[in-house]
Amino acid sequence: MRTAVVLFTRDLRVRDNPALHDTCASAERVVPLFVVDPSIRSSPNRQRFLAQCLADLRESLRARGGDLVVRQGDPVREAVRVARQVGASGIGLAADHSAYAAARQRRLAEACEAERLALTLFDGVTIVPPGALKPTGGGDHYRVFTPYWRAWQDARRRKVLGAPGRIALPDKLAAGRLPSASVKGGSPDVVAGGESAARERLTAWRRRANEYAKGHDDLAGDRTSRLSPYLHFGCVSPLDVESEVDSPEFVRQLCWRDFYHQVLAGFPELPRRAYRRGVTEDWRDDPAALDAWKEGRTGVSIVDAGMRQLVAEGFMHNRARLITASYLTKHLWVDWREGAAWFAHWLLDADIADNWGNWQWVAGTGNNPRPNQRFNPERQATRFDPDGRYRERYLGSRPESGRQKSGRQKSGRPGSG
Ligand code: FAD
Repeated sequence: MRTAVVLFTRDLRVRDNPALHDTCASAERVVPLFVVDPSIRSSPNRQRFLAQCLADLRESLRARGGDLVVRQGDPVREAVRVARQVGASGIGLAADHSAYAAARQRRLAEACEAERLALTLFDGVTIVPPGALKPTGGGDHYRVFTPYWRAWQDARRRKVLGAPGRIALPDKLAAGRLPSASVKGGSPDVVAGGESAARERLTAWRRRANEYAKGHDDLAGDRTSRLSPYLHFGCVSPLDVESEVDSPEFVRQLCWRDFYHQVLAGFPELPRRAYRRGVTEDWRDDPAALDAWKEGRTGVSIVDAGMRQLVAEGFMHNRARLITASYLTKHLWVDWREGAAWFAHWLLDADIADNWGNWQWVAGTGNNPRPNQRFNPERQATRFDPDGRYRERYLGSRPESGRQKSGRQKSGRPGSG
């Protein structure tokens, strides 16, 4: 192939990027392309993070003699337009699995066929691609995590790929302007996006990975990797992370990520509809309680601390996500969709598979084999923030032990069925 386009979406890296690697190996000239898609509504936190990712990617590509070509509009139309302009014979793309991504892929396949362009899809968003593992009892995806985890550990891995050496861009192609990273609003204490930042974090965190098994639930200790925003935007590949980190407990978390991606591929309505069959949903409409939850003023200190961490950092510790989500859906009995939307607005790592999959898991409408499980916030606080340091960090004062107000309780649960 003489000239080809690589359409970046959420694989914003040069290292271990199969679409970029293989296209560079097979084509003489390559156009690395990103299309800013106005139909994807994004929060200030994620807009800024994305802009930083793209700036970093452009720098890496320029260092290799190439560039990041940026366009605005419909990714399908723009990709085909650029391909036509440079006389490309094909387009490479990382396969993705949300309903929107799947529809985009289908449209791109049709457009490529009409234009006689070869479209090649590459794995890389997950470690094991959705659909690669089939449950023995039938069905197109695993509904329960533990059997998936067993099969996943033995699944074949592709090789981790290096960054391409030199990249030759076709002549006379305008690079286009990057979106601005000066975005108004959002969280004050967010991390910066980009592959360079991701690699720094991975390198620093690898040294602490041996603390993960014991420390990952310690709210104040903050001993998780905080790689999730980088994994979401593909600043680092999950396979690369798996290969670099020697902690089975941590690798299990990466498997959860793959698990929800294959759930989403099998059930694209995950963000909208209860996953669990036959579930009766009967949520309370309580705007005042929902607002208090969002603003971190429920009076339950561990819930309020988590919600304030979310707004301050565009991130929340996993244990706090479980507690706050359980509080909304199983104490206030407010719809998981409301909570998931609020999380999605603030989280840098907001992900269709992981956010909505986890919300449904907590709400009892999803993949949790124990749908009635709920987290008692007082007990969780005593266990995972025993000296109140996490709460002090986000509430400004240390809670008096044993004096946290309970949330409203109600018998029966909407998520039963
Ligand atoms: P680590 O503990 O260091 O784990 C490493 C990686 O494994 C994470 O970066 C993430 O990619 C993956 N991972 C860990 N736990 C999970 C999990 N339960 N499900 C799926 N993947 C996991 N994660 C997101 O990436 N995006 C979301 O939008 C998201 N929303 C969530 C909503 C709720 C209600 C809950 C309970 C969890 C949610 N999670 C989400 C999962 C988890 O909380 C975050 O991945 C984790 O807190 C990120 O921090 P970390 O990178 O330090 O994780």
